Amino acid sequence: MKNKTYDFIIIGAGIMGLSIAYKLITNNPKLKIAIIEKEKNVALHASGKNSGVLHSGFFNSIDSLKAKFTKSGNEQLKEFCKHYKLKINFCGRIIVASNEKEFNDLCEFKHRGDLNNIESIWISQQEAHEIDPNAKIYNKALFSPTTATIDPIEICYTLLQILKDRGIQFFFETEYLRKSNSRPVGITTTNGNYEGEMIINAAGLYADKIAKDFGLSQEYTLLPFKEIYLKTSLPWPEIKTNIYCVPNLKNPFLSVHFIKTVNNHIKIGSMYIPAFWRENYTLFERFKLSEFKEILWYEIMLFLSNSCDFRNLTFKEIKKINKNHLISQAKKLVNNLTAEQYRRWETPGIHPQLLKKSTLKLVDDFKIEGGIEHNSIHVLNATNPAFTCSFSFADWIIAEFIYKS
Ligand SMILES: Cc1cc2nc3c(=O)[nH]c(=O)nc-3n(C[C@H](O)[C@H](O)[C@H](O)COP(=O)(O)OP(=O)(O)OC[C@H]3O[C@@H](n4cnc5c(N)ncnc54)[C@H](O)[C@@H]3O)c2cc1C
Repeated sequence: MKNKTYDFIIIGAGIMGLSIAYKLITNNPKLKIAIIEKEKNVALHASGKNSGVLHSGFFNSIDSLKAKFTKSGNEQLKEFCKHYKLKINFCGRIIVASNEKEFNDLCEFKHRGDLNNIESIWISQQEAHEIDPNAKIYNKALFSPTTATIDPIEICYTLLQILKDRGIQFFFETEYLRKSNSRPVGITTTNGNYEGEMIINAAGLYADKIAKDFGLSQEYTLLPFKEIYLKTSLPWPEIKTNIYCVPNLKNPFLSVHFIKTVNNHIKIGSMYIPAFWRENYTLFERFKLSEFKEILWYEIMLFLSNSCDFRNLTFKEIKKINKNHLISQAKKLVNNLTAEQYRRWETPGIHPQLLKKSTLKLVDDFKIEGGIEHNSIHVLNATNPAFTCSFSFADWIIAEFIYKS
């Protein structure tokens, strides 16, 4: 089969692959770009199975890449939604403490937000009740006016259409298999060989495996973590905004919260538990024995060493399998909760969480490896809030790893 030649070959049609393609073609409409995707369509993994929150950024630690991209990513995606008339719910977010200790942690998040130049406002009980009469407030609450919710699948489909219109070629049901010997760089897929100037690996849960073929990501492996929400099928007007409890300072992605979706439905989240293979969405779906053995090995090591508080957090999270337990925690945040509505779990999403093998530490921030000298760039830890960050993250990847050299 004849090789197909491109300036850029992007692996993965999630939000990262799509955003990088969008920014590349916007900078230079003459580029020849291919997107290789193993599924039938865009957004069939994390990018289409996430909570749809456009985060504001004050949970991120200071000076992190996450902090650097969230504010501008939030603004750029809002602008994109406005321009293409996509759904957006400007519902904001309230973070509520329920005791003195949580209130002190909340002050720390406010401080992080201020240092990261993120807008967040202290509000009194009365002000909080004007925003959401249902929220339970201890002392004061923190309000984030820039948090919003969007429909991530609608955004990805819109990007797909824009990119096709601009001449980018999509190859679905085409799985990357290995690096080939083509020059400057090439890959072999289930649908033949592709060669070009540069490979961009935005393969989410498989990004580390692909990077290893290029001699990178040697220190790391990805561990899958499932996140699951309880949902109601009814729009629920009693909750007006996203309501979050104060998260753990060390693991700010773990907290009980209500999400007000773009369609005004409410989700209660979340349960965050280790998965046993990369696409372990349901009981035996996409089971791979080799993945299972490798992942289980690292999970046992994390469990025994309790590195990153893994054992304690797993015990804490697993209790939420009992829906009543999660609901009872959620009830601490609001005055009225019609719990009978929340009887079903949503399809889980899976976070590809990077682990540094030598230290058994989970990497908190985004991680990029490669560059012009490797003819490849690898997006290794595009975890929450990568959807929010995607446009500004893509701008940075292009500036730092492609045009700077
Ligand atoms: C439950 C959950 C909730 C979240 N909530 C939010 C939120 O509210 N706000 C926010 O900003 N972020 C959120 N996130 C994070 C965000 O969704 C992800 O960080 C983001 O979608 C990652 O995008 P991606 O393109 O890197 O990965 P993906 O969406 O996983 O895309 C990677 C693509 O690569 C393809 N691929 C993999 N291997 C191969 C191969 N060998 N060959 C070809 N193709 C391949 C996959 O099929 C997939 O389509 C959430 C994530 C989860 C899981």
